[in-house]
Amino acid sequence: MDVILRNGTVVTANDVYHADVAIEGGVVKRIGTALLDRAAREVDVRGKLLIPGGVDVHTHCETELSGEMSADDWHSSTVQAACGGVTTVVDYALTHPGQSMIECIEQWDARAKGKAVIDYGLHPTLMQPSEKTIAEMADVVSEGHTSFKIFMTGLAGFDEHSTKYVQAIAEAGRLGALVNIHCEDQTCISFHTQRLEAAGQSDIRHYPDSRPPISEGIAAQRAIALARVADAPIYMVHLSCQESLDAINEARAHGQSVYAETRPIYLHLSRERFEEKIDPERYVGWPPLRHADQMAVLWQALDHSVLQTVATDHIGWSLAQKKKHTKVDELIPGMANLETLIPMLYSEGVRKRRLSLQRFVAVSSTNPSKLMGLYPQKGTIAVGSDADIVVFDPDKQVTIRHADMHTKQDWELHEGFEVTGWPVMTLSRGEIIVENGQVLARPGRGRLLKRKRFADVRNIQDVR
Ligand code: MN
Repeated sequence: MDVILRNGTVVTANDVYHADVAIEGGVVKRIGTALLDRAAREVDVRGKLLIPGGVDVHTHCETELSGEMSADDWHSSTVQAACGGVTTVVDYALTHPGQSMIECIEQWDARAKGKAVIDYGLHPTLMQPSEKTIAEMADVVSEGHTSFKIFMTGLAGFDEHSTKYVQAIAEAGRLGALVNIHCEDQTCISFHTQRLEAAGQSDIRHYPDSRPPISEGIAAQRAIALARVADAPIYMVHLSCQESLDAINEARAHGQSVYAETRPIYLHLSRERFEEKIDPERYVGWPPLRHADQMAVLWQALDHSVLQTVATDHIGWSLAQKKKHTKVDELIPGMANLETLIPMLYSEGVRKRRLSLQRFVAVSSTNPSKLMGLYPQKGTIAVGSDADIVVFDPDKQVTIRHADMHTKQDWELHEGFEVTGWPVMTLSRGEIIVENGQVLARPGRGRLLKRKRFADVRNIQDVR
């Protein structure tokens, strides 16, 4: 064997048990108690959890937006992931209107190739799809890229091109692929933005009011209705509030296949942050932070399987970039979040008894892996699965400090936040890529993943 992790507590979406895990050729070869095998590297992980590496299916590792290039790149983003216990990302390849998705994926892969330290998938965006774009979807799926992103906002001209978008959703359904939808209603956002401007309130403090919960709720309802028209399952990204959850519950009560993600910032932060005197631009995401009562709503929705996944929407910006624009409709959204995703979800979720250990693994690894066609290669610890394993110390106390993080941002979103539980070793395909905070991974070792179709997964795997 190459590596044996001895005396660990293995956690999957279904079980928690004590075992040794033996790894050879990049995959898990044997799991059992007191294995007789010998390995080149044997590690006693008594008292530690062995969890499948996180699978973050919503990242922007190295992306241009609003004319700015992100501060993080494929190397710094995936190093953050590895250090934080995430071993797979699925990143959005943002096409320009009219651009071939295959060409865009090739460009994205060319950027990632020499830099990524963990495996990655790519979902192309459907940006103002034409007949030609829709015709290309079959080729994209057969190449192993089995999900597509749609934005419902003005960024993507959703309202002007809604018929084509519904055709694209229908085509995804026909191909067995999964459409990922960003639910915010542009009419609602524009109305509120104009009203704030007229009242002289278009500064950062009023940002949450420019995109209120109703703008997300309306869009969620519409996305669900259009998916029903198109007869296709959908996956709704970064939901933040009760309005959207109500729409999901109603759709499921009628038997519709709807899956949903939330994002760490909505679990850990609330809109009071925009009252802060120093750099409130740090907290800007699409959608905005909500009232504090929504945090408990989202934790419960995760626990009760209303939400299936947590994903970061990671994108690293310098503070100067975040502060470049000041009007509510021009603010640059997003922040680096890959390094703290898993420890904060464990600390705030499992330690505070909001999630079981199994549920923590389900929402951060197993479910996203199933939804995006990566299971069981990724998303679990099982014989034959990739040895993407995190040795997690459930008692390690860490105060989150920018100085200790690996982002190229010059600031840290959760500065000073105290967590209990942190990864002490990360393995990717059996290779120890981080050990006690030391990054051992060679840039470019990460591989582009070809993914299965969701349609081939859904009848044999529960995603709850
Ligand atoms: Mn995003």
